[in-house]
Amino acid sequence: MPRPQRPTTTLVVESTEQLTPGMVRVRFTSPDLSAFAESTDTDRYVKLVFDRADGQVVRTYTALEPDVAAGTVIIDFVVHGTEGVAGPWAAQAKPGDTLSARGPGGGYAPDPTADWHLLAGDQAGLPAIRAALAALPAEAVGYAVIDVPSAEFHQDLVKPDGIELSWLDGADLVETVRALPWREGRVHAFVHGEAESVMHGIRPYLLKERELPRADVSISGYWRVGRTEETFREWKRELAESEGAGRR
Ligand SMILES: Cc1cc2nc3c(=O)[nH]c(=O)nc-3n(C[C@H](O)[C@H](O)[C@H](O)COP(=O)(O)OP(=O)(O)OC[C@H]3O[C@@H](n4cnc5c(N)ncnc54)[C@H](O)[C@@H]3O)c2cc1C
Repeated sequence: MPRPQRPTTTLVVESTEQLTPGMVRVRFTSPDLSAFAESTDTDRYVKLVFDRADGQVVRTYTALEPDVAAGTVIIDFVVHGTEGVAGPWAAQAKPGDTLSARGPGGGYAPDPTADWHLLAGDQAGLPAIRAALAALPAEAVGYAVIDVPSAEFHQDLVKPDGIELSWLDGADLVETVRALPWREGRVHAFVHGEAESVMHGIRPYLLKERELPRADVSISGYWRVGRTEETFREWKRELAESEGAGRR
């Protein structure tokens, strides 16, 4: 059965801000963000539609702080060079530029009843980790581990005191997560970033070695080295098929 089409809205660039050498924040206004009214997921994302000479290209981005009444929403784009569509678009965006956006989708918000939280990812996952940290109750405890190249890429994040935040500055994300002291009780985990390290490095650690219930782990690749979002979708399909075959 075809998936129901998500509502489409127009986003208009209001302003841009270089947060770090690797990330640009784009503030958008929109005539209608009513589709966000019911959305409580902290990883809420939109499908941005870019009109190009050779057709439309779709890219997926976390939508931060949607304000339905004010008609404003923020997207933090990783600037990863001149390759691709969305990253280079954001690096050059200026007030008045427009995009179409479909959504939101989403599937995670931190469970306030968990004993502790594990949030891990790279710069692509950082916006969703930012939103999750801001939504945690003040007494929450656990770890946030964020893979960035160096100290210039750190950002100010609002978080509970009991969440220990580590910026990796080039250290290995998988090894760092594996080396975290394991805490007592039920963990709720949110792990998103480069697909190989997340799906083949951290996922088996959490699901197989630590035996976490699938429902307590939100984990997926957000992008894949050397692949556009289109060819990354093929990578995900092949992974799902090979795992389906393994279960048969
Ligand atoms: C649910 C979800 C939420 C996401 N939220 C965000 C977000 O808030 N902010 C964000 O920046 N990204 C986010 N991403 C990741 C983003 O969709 C991808 O990085 C996307 O591929 C970028 O599109 P592009 O047109 O810039 O590059 P593409 O055309 O897709 O790729 C071109 C080249 O750039 C490389 N590349 C792509 N992304 C990166 C990267 N992050 N770092 C280094 N190289 C890269 C590719 O490997 C490829 O070689 C999210 C992804 C998902 C699935």
